[in-house]
Amino acid sequence: MIYGFTSRSAAKERSLERRFLTLPSPDKARAAHAFLTAEPHVAGSPRDRVLAEWVRDRWREYGLERIEITEHEVLLPYATEVSVEMIAPTKWRASLKEEPVAGDPFSTRDVGVAYHAYSASGDVTAPVVYAGSGNPADYDWLAERGIEIKDKIALVRYSVPYSYRGFKALTAEQRGAAGILIYSDPADDGFKKGKTYPDGPWGPESHIQRGGVVYDFRVPGDPLTPGWASVPGARRIARADAVSLPKIVSAPLSWKDARVLLEAMRGPEAPRSWQGGLPFTYHAGGGPSTVHMRVQMDDKVRPIWTVTARITGTTHPDDLVIVGNHRDAWVYGGVDPSSGTASMMELARALGALAKESARPKRTIVFASWDAEEFTLTSSTEWGEQHAADLVDHAVAYLNVDSSASGINFGAAAVPSLNRLVTEAADAVIDPDSGLSIAAAHRRGSHDGGALPGGAGSDLVNNRLGSGSDYTVFLNFLGVPIVDMSFTGPYGVYHSMYDNHTWMSKFGDPKFLYQAAMTRLWGVMALRLANADVAPMDFRAYADRLREFVKETIARAQPPDRTMFSPLEAASDRFANAARIAAARADTLLAAERSDAAAMRTLDVALMRAERGLIDRDGIPGRPWYRHVIYAPKATYAPEVLPGVAEAIESGNRARLADQVWRLTAALDRASAILSGPATR
Ligand SMILES: [Zn+2]
Repeated sequence: MIYGFTSRSAAKERSLERRFLTLPSPDKARAAHAFLTAEPHVAGSPRDRVLAEWVRDRWREYGLERIEITEHEVLLPYATEVSVEMIAPTKWRASLKEEPVAGDPFSTRDVGVAYHAYSASGDVTAPVVYAGSGNPADYDWLAERGIEIKDKIALVRYSVPYSYRGFKALTAEQRGAAGILIYSDPADDGFKKGKTYPDGPWGPESHIQRGGVVYDFRVPGDPLTPGWASVPGARRIARADAVSLPKIVSAPLSWKDARVLLEAMRGPEAPRSWQGGLPFTYHAGGGPSTVHMRVQMDDKVRPIWTVTARITGTTHPDDLVIVGNHRDAWVYGGVDPSSGTASMMELARALGALAKESARPKRTIVFASWDAEEFTLTSSTEWGEQHAADLVDHAVAYLNVDSSASGINFGAAAVPSLNRLVTEAADAVIDPDSGLSIAAAHRRGSHDGGALPGGAGSDLVNNRLGSGSDYTVFLNFLGVPIVDMSFTGPYGVYHSMYDNHTWMSKFGDPKFLYQAAMTRLWGVMALRLANADVAPMDFRAYADRLREFVKETIARAQPPDRTMFSPLEAASDRFANAARIAAARADTLLAAERSDAAAMRTLDVALMRAERGLIDRDGIPGRPWYRHVIYAPKATYAPEVLPGVAEAIESGNRARLADQVWRLTAALDRASAILSGPATR
């Protein structure tokens, strides 16, 4: 059986899927990937526009409908100058360049200056302090030893497990630092992990991790239109009022450059956990080594391009199953995102071919090629804000793939109601390496969590959702159920120029089998969501997770307060009950001899809409854009569950806590009421 299908429709679906699974082609994925990664294609660049038109033209060829390029004009600064030099104890200038490596023609090109998107512009000269990973506790350690970070330049490392670089910038800014340099230590993604590029997948000495430092955990999208779309004529706030813009000067460094600074540092020996992979003892510094850094951003508003298209459904054309991937890359985008784009192009081709064979889905499938994800999830956010009303009424689910393959370990993150969809789809698609199903390969596999957001942990589906990709607007702003997926592996060239077609062909997915496998998995999920008799969403898993989240959140409250939380526990029980009744009703309807189409549609609509109940229109205190009551990202992009309540507990403010408990309770009751539906009321 397939969840959400009667046995008759399941048989039909199986035969459709058998046909679909033959269509994705690793060779075609390779060809698409080669074209997508032929040139750097940062958001808003001429090449990004060329690729938008290429996507549009391919989709036309594949027979997709309503193909559109939507332009948004957004604040999208490029750096015109980044310089870092040591002026004491000796004079030295950082190269800030990635060097050519043997056998990689892409690495010989000049790809421009590496920078942090949304760094402030500025020119600062100050003593440099090594602050470990740049977490608050790291600055506390320094302060205890009399090393103040105020007015100094912080040198911190990218860390594993991944912590969003914007959190490092914010922490340094809050501590009063004059600037921040973030470098890639070989212990985290270089030679301490294994062979480096071009001999292995890890980062060579001069690789630089570019990336945004924007505070999009406060509000993503165009910083000047927080919460509404950057359409022509839209109101824009002043830069000074934009809460997502850093005020600190920030730049990325390779370890090749950072090494010179680290070696020159004196002061106390850094703690063991801060010692990295370089062959000397790291010191905290604070003088005499002094750095002069200068960053000049052009502060331009630029156009970006979202490409959308659809295959219109036959039975419920208004119901939208959305699949999306971003197109913009920091440089060539070998893994991030062009592996995902190659998978999506194959998905469009395969589903387009089925539609031409008149095997159309019952619901509409929408394709989206996002732009400027690397800056601040920009085009998905603007598009989601622009189409909010339609999406709230009609979106069934959003299936995101950012990087589809840097290796062979599958991981998914999803709202719990879609666990079953993901698991069943992973049972239906073959893992190219083992020949087992993807689900079975995962059970047998190493469960390498990976170093990047979305790292899977040991479960096939991770239900703790943070941020870091384009699903954010769907989940956190609109209340649309989401899935985010990737195959991961040893990958030390993230956001560097070495993340390109040559790296992919040598290490990430040499035969492009995993990019095609992702197409299959993605397609099976999209087809099941589109063709199910009753939306394949099981809220019992959501209720189980919720219980777990409630329990751990209550345990953090000091002093413990049973009465404060008892309404929440009761609402959580009511939600579990509604979920159980809905699931039982689905089982009954789907197993019935004669199907009751009207009753199935009623339940179907209830299941598709229930997530919307979990949106609180006022949002989380202090960040109103984040409106989901179960999920929000922390500033590190790590997941925070029951964010309103959790942050109220942290604040120690009882009135605020009571309000947040009430809001969460009300949201759960809204979701329960939607789940229960008119039929049982
Ligand atoms: Zn990406």
